[in-house]
Amino acid sequence: MRYSRWLLVAVLGACVRNTPTEPGKAAMTDDLPVSNADLRALFELLDEESGNGYECDHGFTLTRRFLAERRLPVEDVLRWLGENGAGCDCEVIFNVEQQWGAHVGFEPEESKVEGKE
Ligand SMILES: [Zn+2]
Repeated sequence: MRYSRWLLVAVLGACVRNTPTEPGKAAMTDDLPVSNADLRALFELLDEESGNGYECDHGFTLTRRFLAERRLPVEDVLRWLGENGAGCDCEVIFNVEQQWGAHVGFEPEESKVEGKE
């Protein structure tokens, strides 16, 4: 399963309030508030943290820190993430990455090391 680690994160944190939007239902906007590279780096960070045993705290703790460190427009990005179905760090992976991962060239760690664990 592709998101097994994050499923665990979500269950522990009782997150994932939002179900992913059905394809074609929600308008997928093209105006990303950050560059593709920045968004990909965010997915990579969250994927990595989940592997380190991170438990989502129902907020954007990791996402906020990441954006602040890169001097990116935190509130704009959080609003955009919300529009794409994410209300916390784990939902960024569950809901946003599913829609945008391929777009920004993100490859989940588990798909690269399949069968290793
Ligand atoms: Zn969460």
